[in-house]
Amino acid sequence: MKPKILIVEDEEAQAEVLRYNFEQEGCDVALAYDGEEALMAAEEQQPDLVVLDWMLPGISGLRVCQALRGRQETKDLPIVMVTARGEETDRVRGLDSGADDYVVKPFSPSELVARVRAVLRRSRPSLGQEHLSFGDIVMDLGTHRVLREEKPIHLGPTEFRLLQLFMERPDRVFSREQLLDRVWGRDIHVESRTVDVHIRRLRKALGEHGGDDVIRTVRGAGYALDAQAM
Ligand code: CA
Repeated sequence: MKPKILIVEDEEAQAEVLRYNFEQEGCDVALAYDGEEALMAAEEQQPDLVVLDWMLPGISGLRVCQALRGRQETKDLPIVMVTARGEETDRVRGLDSGADDYVVKPFSPSELVARVRAVLRRSRPSLGQEHLSFGDIVMDLGTHRVLREEKPIHLGPTEFRLLQLFMERPDRVFSREQLLDRVWGRDIHVESRTVDVHIRRLRKALGEHGGDDVIRTVRGAGYALDAQAM
């Protein structure tokens, strides 16, 4: 699954340069131009990492960072702070801003991309991984093969992406909207009922050779993997 990067930068030209570079790296990119937008986007778009400019109109990057750390949903969201050379560098380094890393302007886009990659590798090892496993289920992301108790499971492309998303974050509950966004994409119009149809297919396929149902329906919230089934 492509990592999703939220770029928070008020200078549009700079934001576009960064968008281009991260897309070239195989990332999905969302943009926000001020702190308020950033906080909304972090909640709605569920990015895997935020690139956060310190100097923003309105709420500063530092405040955004603290606000993200203070919310249950985003408290572990990796943040790479962007600062101008000068005293802020010391503040980012010295104070506990809550950021995972920082780069100092001016920087080359490739430098930032490399930093982001490093933070992502630490925070979500599965992004660079070829195999995911959960209990007796193993996904090979290279060959798109899925095994359960070493027997092949046959999944359609949508079910494969659903299972991959769940297995990348086995502790998380995904709402239908989040699944639509991550698996089908924002721009495609699909009804949320469609999610249920594909979850049903995924369940059926995973039970092809028996075994417990590993998809948990969380009433009023969505779906998650069921660690207790394992
Ligand atoms: Ca700025």
